[in-house]
Amino acid sequence: MERIETSKSPSVRRSYLWLCDTALQWLLLQYSLFRIAEASVSDRRWTALNHFVSFYTKKLSLGVAPLPLFGYSYFSSGSFSYYKRLSFRLEKEYYVVSVDKSDPPLFWSLAVHEFFHCWLGMREDIDRICSSQSIGTGRIDRTITERRVEEALCDALATRIIGPAYPHSYLHKLWAQFPVSVDVTYPTHRFRIECMAKVLDGLKLFESAKNVRDIGDAKFSDSWQDEEISWAMNEIVAVASKLPRFVKEDVESEAKKEIKSLDVSPPKDLPTLLLACWMFIESPGHEGAPSAVSRASDVILKVLEG
Ligand SMILES: [Zn+2]
Repeated sequence: MERIETSKSPSVRRSYLWLCDTALQWLLLQYSLFRIAEASVSDRRWTALNHFVSFYTKKLSLGVAPLPLFGYSYFSSGSFSYYKRLSFRLEKEYYVVSVDKSDPPLFWSLAVHEFFHCWLGMREDIDRICSSQSIGTGRIDRTITERRVEEALCDALATRIIGPAYPHSYLHKLWAQFPVSVDVTYPTHRFRIECMAKVLDGLKLFESAKNVRDIGDAKFSDSWQDEEISWAMNEIVAVASKLPRFVKEDVESEAKKEIKSLDVSPPKDLPTLLLACWMFIESPGHEGAPSAVSRASDVILKVLEG
């Protein structure tokens, strides 16, 4: 504010005014997120969600555990901030991760995608990948390129950590939206699906990779190579492959075995538990029925609260 008052040039004054306005809006947003986080603690599912999020914080050594909250959609925010190139970025590291409060826990794998937005905020992967391509030669600019690479990276990293349950959640959550074209800041669904399938290949989960690709083939007529950032595919998958492996090689067969006894003795291993729940609701006789979804979600809550 002081600089606005002392600046002689109207354009410099306008710039400082814009910075003040942006900073205030950002602070207001963070304040409203903390209020939602405060209210979320009284939700009976919060403890389970907190265990779910902090499990990955410990595994992947993120400096500070994200504060989970029940919001209106899946998103993340915090000190990495979307204005990271501006000088008012806060020094203190903190994150919030929101899940869609109307979703059952079966969909919480999508929160891991948000977790990786926080994780990537402390790393150089996006800059490095985008710098490998000469900017200005493509049809999209650097900012949009970075955003698309980040989205695809979060999908790839979440699939690496959770395994097939992540693409299951993605495909079911966005099923109704597939015919609608994506926002310019997101890569095509076809590209994102291929990223997940390639990560599953890397985990040697070929059956799941084939299922994911089959859905892509049935739903979309475009090819993943049509995406403007298709040149980044190998590098995106390579970043994911450097993460430790948490998904067992026999997760598919193990999850299949667990379907029948899910209510009685659910698996404690998270990737197996989540995949078994998806297999359960897709099994003959259930096929996505609301009662099957709530049974599977109760099992997930019970394990996470345990
Ligand atoms: Zn995202």
